[in-house]
Amino acid sequence: METCRITRRAVLTATAGMAALGSGLLTGTAEAATGSTAKPAADPPTGTVRVFWLRPSDVAYDQRYPDGIAGVMQEAQRFYKQELGVTFKLNNPAVEVVTGDHPRSWYEDTPNGDDAYWWVVFNMQQELLAKLGLRAPDSRWLCVGEISAEKQGVSGGGGGGGWVILSGHDADGGAGTNGDMNRWYGGMVHELGHAFGLPDSTYTDGTPMSASFYSYPNCHFSQDQKNGILNGPYRTFLS
Ligand SMILES: [Zn+2]
Repeated sequence: METCRITRRAVLTATAGMAALGSGLLTGTAEAATGSTAKPAADPPTGTVRVFWLRPSDVAYDQRYPDGIAGVMQEAQRFYKQELGVTFKLNNPAVEVVTGDHPRSWYEDTPNGDDAYWWVVFNMQQELLAKLGLRAPDSRWLCVGEISAEKQGVSGGGGGGGWVILSGHDADGGAGTNGDMNRWYGGMVHELGHAFGLPDSTYTDGTPMSASFYSYPNCHFSQDQKNGILNGPYRTFLS
């Protein structure tokens, strides 16, 4: 299962990358602002990482989600600083809560592409793009979206092209209700690596871009991976 998830991501990265895949699906809707109630008064500074928790309309608000996802981002921020000597900036609040237009089941059951694995997170991303006027990729922000919806054993997430999109089990993990936090820290470090432009490792090599992220914090970026991030499309986001 765990290996399968990493394989799926590898396939995605190897074919077109998530952004390219997503933009095909999102044509015509990305700029269509609908229901602007969730849009904050002012956008946060550019060159930062924006983080969203999308709460489906029938999922109860729970402060553990924004607080916990913020904690995961802060740990990933610390790890990047440790590994690279520079890191990314978060905003205040670190996590923007977005109330979904639909109930949880809609995100799970509404087709969005050929592979049901991606439906929940693509449906989330599409709504975030429309509501907040975001793009994929977006040169202004690197974006992380997590949604409290998941069809068990089917849904999953990934990263690439300036985005990380994650489903219910990662959101629950961030909130502290799904086991060891190191699993969720390592997962975020891995997906952010994709968002910053890195591919999956081809074997379990001790780096967080391989299944070694399951051993977090006992994994480290290789020099090639460090160079890839520091010379990648979001290099100016790091200081
Ligand atoms: Zn991956």
